[in-house]
Amino acid sequence: TIESLFDLEKLGVVGHGNGGIVYKVQHLRNSSVYALKVLRFENENFHLRKKAVGEAEILKQVDSEFIVRCHGVFDSGGDTENGDLCFLMEYMEGGSLNDVLRVHGSLPENVISGVAKRVLEGLSYLHGLHIVHRDIKPSNLLINGQGEVKIADFGVSRVLAGTFDASEFCEGTCAYMSPERFDSDKWTESWCNGFAGDVWALGLALLECYMGHFPLLAPGKKPDWVTLMCAICFIERPEIPSTASSEFKSFIYRCLEKDWRRRGTVTELLRHPFVAKQNTGLVDSF
Ligand code: ADP
Ligand code: MG
Repeated sequence: TIESLFDLEKLGVVGHGNGGIVYKVQHLRNSSVYALKVLRFENENFHLRKKAVGEAEILKQVDSEFIVRCHGVFDSGGDTENGDLCFLMEYMEGGSLNDVLRVHGSLPENVISGVAKRVLEGLSYLHGLHIVHRDIKPSNLLINGQGEVKIADFGVSRVLAGTFDASEFCEGTCAYMSPERFDSDKWTESWCNGFAGDVWALGLALLECYMGHFPLLAPGKKPDWVTLMCAICFIERPEIPSTASSEFKSFIYRCLEKDWRRRGTVTELLRHPFVAKQNTGLVDSF
């Protein structure tokens, strides 16, 4: 285990996110490489910070080959209520699915099928611990040196996004929110079943891998909150390109079922022919 941030040397920046910066770091003595996510909290966000520290405790229980490992959380604030929170994570040298899409444009079905299987296995693990991810999206699905996809940022971004203040809530992440999360009546009951929201987000992320852009909007559009909310809540079924196989379409429609009670569950989807069939499961295999 890593005792202190002083044991680590920064090698470079690998990415910028909503609440902070991700660095590639190396342990000074054993030369292992990690990713270090540094979250900066302003004074007025001390309540969010407190929540993040709490969530970090849950992260430590999570131990699965389908989830990016968290090796430690460092609180540079000490007893004060501000200062950085640092999450030391498994380094995923292939970057995120978002990065891959930027290079390749889109992914073929056989690769998407392997991604779907691994993410469903990860969700099955988390849901088994009664943990809802709440921020499944291409930039939170990371690829290691072997081309294996894992779920990242459970907890961390969940805390950042998990306020009910619409303006803050929307920032960056709301595109993958399921329709029931916009409906205050259904919100309370579906809250208990946030698992269905993770399935919706997975469906959107996988369809994005196939289409090469966010599926509910025209390509290249940077939407405002209202346009996005309308797209999520008023489109009956997203358009899937006619080149897609019927298995893939059927899988995506089970994920993007608007009524969360009728949506496919992780257990059901793991048995779906699109996922159950043979595939390499790797993102570098094309
Ligand atoms: P977001 O997920 O919204 O993009 P993050 O701060 O979580 O914001 O991550 C920013 C970027 O840093 C990601 O898109 C990804 O490319 C990269 N990244 C995050 N975590 C890791 C990791 N553990 N290993 C390698 N790269 C990572
Ligand atoms: Mg992230």
